[in-house]
Amino acid sequence: MKRVLVTGAAGFIGSHLCDRLIDEGCHVIGMDNLITGNIRNIEHLFALSNFEFYHHDVSKFVHVPGHLDYILHFASPASPLDYLRMPIQTLKVGSLGTHNLLGLAKSKNARILIASTSEVYGDPLVHPQHEDYWGNVNPIGPRGVYDEAKRFQEAITMAYHTYHGLETRIVRIFNTYGPRMRVDDGRVLPAFFAQAIRGEGLTVFGDGSQTRSFCYIDDLVEGIYRLLKSDYHLPVNLGNPSETTILQFAQEILDLVGNKDAHIIYNPLPVDDPKQRKPDISRAKEVLNWTPSISRKEGLEKSYAYFREVVQVS
Ligand code: UDP
Repeated sequence: MKRVLVTGAAGFIGSHLCDRLIDEGCHVIGMDNLITGNIRNIEHLFALSNFEFYHHDVSKFVHVPGHLDYILHFASPASPLDYLRMPIQTLKVGSLGTHNLLGLAKSKNARILIASTSEVYGDPLVHPQHEDYWGNVNPIGPRGVYDEAKRFQEAITMAYHTYHGLETRIVRIFNTYGPRMRVDDGRVLPAFFAQAIRGEGLTVFGDGSQTRSFCYIDDLVEGIYRLLKSDYHLPVNLGNPSETTILQFAQEILDLVGNKDAHIIYNPLPVDDPKQRKPDISRAKEVLNWTPSISRKEGLEKSYAYFREVVQVS
């Protein structure tokens, strides 16, 4: 039985990864300091003998008894609202936290997969974004704390690979959505669903012409699992290349929820908000034989079933 450490285990992506690894027959050790994660995302796993949970901040020294086969580092505030509220923690978990986990991986002779992001491309000047593009990041802007932490994370991970021969994997995750997203995390999909269900204005930032490409969580988890098992150490983009403007996205959610009181309102565009984003996934296709299979229509319907349960309507 493989022993696997998942950091950020109570988060949106981390908790789905724990489920998948349990399904694959692994012994999973989840770790989270719960500043943005929610223990409810993993409470169904607590009864299992092959699941353990450590309430710990990985920016501090990480100790795990016994051997480890894999480490998946998914701890970090990840929504623009969260990393604006917690800039120092965001920088620390991407830098100090990653260093601690690389050290742990080295001492256990474990393979480590780290969660990077499309934010390493910043406000991209190349479209769609291929892994060979170096990005356009403002280091001192509001997103800099996340973007630069993740860029440092990639650099130190490659250094451990090169200088210590550590088995490393780097996934660059593009916008992902689905059940277990936090309703108030500020990201566009939970915000729009909550507003549509409550019959409020959907807060489109700017004129809504900026684009994003949304990937359903199950597709992402499949890609991450394949990358973990692969022998490929360079960064791999995972995301769904189906691109939409934010205004079109708001309209799709309005149509799906069908609440006559809901409507679109326009708010100012946040500083350094990327104008367009779409993954070039040719590398993932070639190396992992992976391509997303869940359409936005299907993914939004599955997500709506979840948000209908969790959104409080006063
Ligand atoms: N956005 C929006 N209304 C909201 C929240 C976000 O129009 O209530 C926009 C945001 O400006 C960005 C896009 O939706 O252009 C995606 O934002 P999100 O925070 O989900 O993640 P990002 O891709 O920017 O990291």
